[in-house]
Amino acid sequence: MTGTVYKSTGSWYTVKNQEGDFFECRIKGKFRIQGIKSTNPIAVGDVVEFEIEQLGDDTVGVIHHIEDRKNYIIRKSVNLSKQTHIIAANLDQVFLLVTLNNPVTYTIFIDRFLATAEAYEIPTILLFNKVDTYEIEELAEIKFLAEMYRKIGYTCIGISAKTGKNVDKVKELMTNTTSMFAGHSGAGKSTLVNALEPSLDLKTAEISEQHLQGQHTTTFAEMFDLDFGGRIIDTPGIKGFGIVDMEKDEIGDYFPEFFALKGECKFNNCLHLDEPKCAVKEALENDEVAWSRYRSYVQMVTGEEETYRTDIHDN
Ligand code: GDP
Ligand code: ZN
Repeated sequence: MTGTVYKSTGSWYTVKNQEGDFFECRIKGKFRIQGIKSTNPIAVGDVVEFEIEQLGDDTVGVIHHIEDRKNYIIRKSVNLSKQTHIIAANLDQVFLLVTLNNPVTYTIFIDRFLATAEAYEIPTILLFNKVDTYEIEELAEIKFLAEMYRKIGYTCIGISAKTGKNVDKVKELMTNTTSMFAGHSGAGKSTLVNALEPSLDLKTAEISEQHLQGQHTTTFAEMFDLDFGGRIIDTPGIKGFGIVDMEKDEIGDYFPEFFALKGECKFNNCLHLDEPKCAVKEALENDEVAWSRYRSYVQMVTGEEETYRTDIHDN
């Protein structure tokens, strides 16, 4: 039978088959998939093949095959073993909730997130939440940011999880897809999920970040079906994707507007920093590339840890 993994405990997997029935499954043998060495061979979102076996009075499934993933997100453990844990697989998109205030979302956070999602090959949609609370200047700032990110190719929607403004647009995008929500704590993830489907009570807000910092804490994601058709992957406490290991010279590939200029710089290994005849810097001077994006890029390449506000006025 073919099914999709909805939940994992590390030793047991809850799998839903194509008829919509759930089975508790175990793994048969050892799996080493797509060259990733991870603590868990199977993750939520994986499509698997399994057989039913009778164990006394119990029916259990035995997973014997995992289909290739179209994408996956990982977390590296902070201890010395540096082991990789696959959090979720086969995402259609991730929604990043951005708020200008309470909490402030810095453009470096957005850009790091977008670059990481590009590296993971997961489309990102930006949701500017809490539009009901903003003054005119903040609304102008959102408009500016949304236009900037749209120009690069990202879908942007101004929403209010609280009043329900544009929540139907989010619903439309989510229909018949598998999605995940991300964003700072307090950005409105739980409120939005609640607005989409009141009966769903996700863990997102319940697990404190302190708890997650425990080195041996392994958190497993869980997938839920939505009444309007679609699935959501709940990942306790994940606000961003963490940092993927990116080489300096590949970061530019994950900034789509820089990538589009690849090959136009004088040097083909141009890092777009101080090299002469750099197409990215020329585009920057001509206002075809946004300063905030370039600044984020430089921070990522040079590893500086300054933070900048999402402020249009200091550009
Ligand atoms: P999470 O940590 O991302 O899950 O954020 P929550 O959903 O818990 O929201 C944090 C706070 O922001 C709560 O007090 C929510 O009521 C509030 N909130 C969330 N979305 C909105 C919104 O669109 N407008 C307003 N005014 N408040 C919101
Ligand atoms: Zn360059």
